[in-house]
Parts: sequence; C-alpha cells; structure tokens
Amino acid sequence: ALMITDECINCDVCEPECPNEAIYPGDEIYEIDPNLCTECVGHYDEPQCQQVCPVDCIPLDPDHKETREQLMTKYEALMAAK
Ligand code: SF4
Ligand code: SF4
Repeated sequence: ALMITDECINCDVCEPECPNEAIYPGDEIYEIDPNLCTECVGHYDEPQCQQVCPVDCIPLDPDHKETREQLMTKYEALMAAK
C-alpha cells in the first residue's frame, strides 16, 4: 500500500482518482486505507494518486510492503466483494 505524508496540503485531487476508494479525508490530512490500496494493481500501470499529487507526498508505506502477487490477490478479493 501507499501512504500519505504530513506534507499533504488537503487539495482533494487524489481522492476521486482512486479506483478502490482507499483515500479519505482524515482528521488533519488525507489518508489511505492500506486494506483497500492495491497500489493500483489490477486497474492501472501506475498509482493514480501519485500521478496527480501536486506535492508528491504519497510514498510506499514501509509498514505495508506487498509483492505484486499480494496486491493482485487483494485486488481480486476487493472485486469479489463488490
Ligand atoms: Fe488508490 Fe491506487 Fe493510490 Fe492506492 S495507489 S491509494 S489504490 S490511487
Ligand atoms: Fe494530499 Fe496529495 Fe492527495 Fe492533495 S493529492 S490531498 S496533497 S495527498
């Protein structure tokens, strides 16, 4: 999963771009639910939130490192639950 750092300026550009609805406004900055973020695997070649963030504050979450296979498994589980 990716994460949003405290450099976030709450511009709201990323939230509608997420195909998994993993991004939401937190108490102070936007946040990513690691259970929903597939790093856009299954949907796009590149993480869409990273592409649009004007301050480049969406790195990989070191606490939620996943392989491409794990991300694809998550994607499939999310799709099956829809
Ligand atoms: Fe959503 Fe993709 Fe960003 Fe994860 S990487 S939060 S799935 S837009
Ligand atoms: Fe924050 Fe970047 Fe999302 Fe804007 S695009 S809300 S700065 S994480």
